[in-house]
Amino acid sequence: MARVRFAPSPTGFLHIGGARTALFNWLYAKAQGGQFILRIEDTDRERSKREYLDEILEGMQWLGLSWDELHKQSDRFAIYREHAQRLLTQGKAYKDGEAVILKMSAGLRVDQPIAGNSSPQLVFYDLIRDKISFEVSEIKDQVLIKSDGSPAYNFACVVDDALMEISCVIRGEDHISNTPKQLAIYEALGFKSPKFAHLPLILDAEGGRMSKRHGAVAVSEYRRMGFLPQALVNYLMLLGWSPAHNQEIVSLSTAIKNFSIKKINKAGAAFSMEKLEWINAQYLRQMDTPSLTKMLIPFAKEHGLDLENFDSARLENIVHLVKSRMTTLKDFLAWTEFIFTDEVKIDPQARAQYLTKNKSKEFQLLSQRLQQIKDFNLASAEETFRKLIAELGIQSSELVHSVRVALTGKSVGPGLFETMAVLGKEKTVQRLARTRFQQ
Ligand code: GLU
Repeated sequence: MARVRFAPSPTGFLHIGGARTALFNWLYAKAQGGQFILRIEDTDRERSKREYLDEILEGMQWLGLSWDELHKQSDRFAIYREHAQRLLTQGKAYKDGEAVILKMSAGLRVDQPIAGNSSPQLVFYDLIRDKISFEVSEIKDQVLIKSDGSPAYNFACVVDDALMEISCVIRGEDHISNTPKQLAIYEALGFKSPKFAHLPLILDAEGGRMSKRHGAVAVSEYRRMGFLPQALVNYLMLLGWSPAHNQEIVSLSTAIKNFSIKKINKAGAAFSMEKLEWINAQYLRQMDTPSLTKMLIPFAKEHGLDLENFDSARLENIVHLVKSRMTTLKDFLAWTEFIFTDEVKIDPQARAQYLTKNKSKEFQLLSQRLQQIKDFNLASAEETFRKLIAELGIQSSELVHSVRVALTGKSVGPGLFETMAVLGKEKTVQRLARTRFQQ
């Protein structure tokens, strides 16, 4: 049975590169009806932090990458020591103080020197990169157990991958240089080695490795920015893999059907914020308004806007009004701020453009007429507005833009009468009556 694992160290937040590694492992398991194991590599007691662990687990749950088993290396120190002891007894390892060191000669199974190259090579096959070879002379004796009793990464990793019956190790290409060392450990322990697949790095726009300096790298930051987990997963999927026919919006179930590790590119994948935003906007538009509203309530709360007691039918109208203009959940806050505040903040540029020519008379009249409407809604507000325009003998464009600025603070936005309807009669009437025109 296919068994794969994602093995993060809780020494930092869940990075989007890590999330993509987790996703490809998850897809590999699902595509083959296998199992996905989450293994926390917390052998470094000083650098491993509870908050990072919590954040990794939360991030995985948020992304929908459920696991079949969860292990923590800190619970398994006795197992690593037992295997190190076995190697000592067999003479394959030696002690240096308290540390246990593997004799590389005990583990290396060396291939014939390859043509034109006189030094012996250690060769392995990678499912993405094909044949990878290392010069044996570069592989030195290595620490298995450190003098403080904790296992070294390569040793704990091999013991666990073997005992957990991992069939394929899928991880970032930054681990390629660890693979020959790990193969030597498998050999020394008498364990069968798994298959390997090393994923290309995620690059930033300049072609360098994605790093904090160039923007968000933690999954939790993308959540706070208002990306949907389905959209982020969809985007991460496209980094290094083309799911077929250049299709960009791919559901997880379609991805599971089409996934093949062999189709992953060798070359690094460039991260594009614009593409991620585009995908997020697609997912937002596809979502039905009630579900989107439900999702927005806790999001708004985290950003200081409490909508829990807001009339739910009205809230859904508001969401519907701005949904097609949203790229992220955060845009909802920007587009609707004018509805939830008493004092509308007017954008200075919009003011300069539309609230300098004095239209007090028109505004007062409009305000009074709207005040008289019994059943205030999109249709009745529009009818009242049009009647007044006709009466005054002006073009509607002479009033529409300045009214929008007075009501919303912005010069662009959804339809004016829809905006009035969601804002409600009282605020609409009041804002029009109170608008000051300044030259
Ligand atoms: N703990 C290692 C890391 O976070 C895991 C590497 C591996 O998958 O073997 O990079």
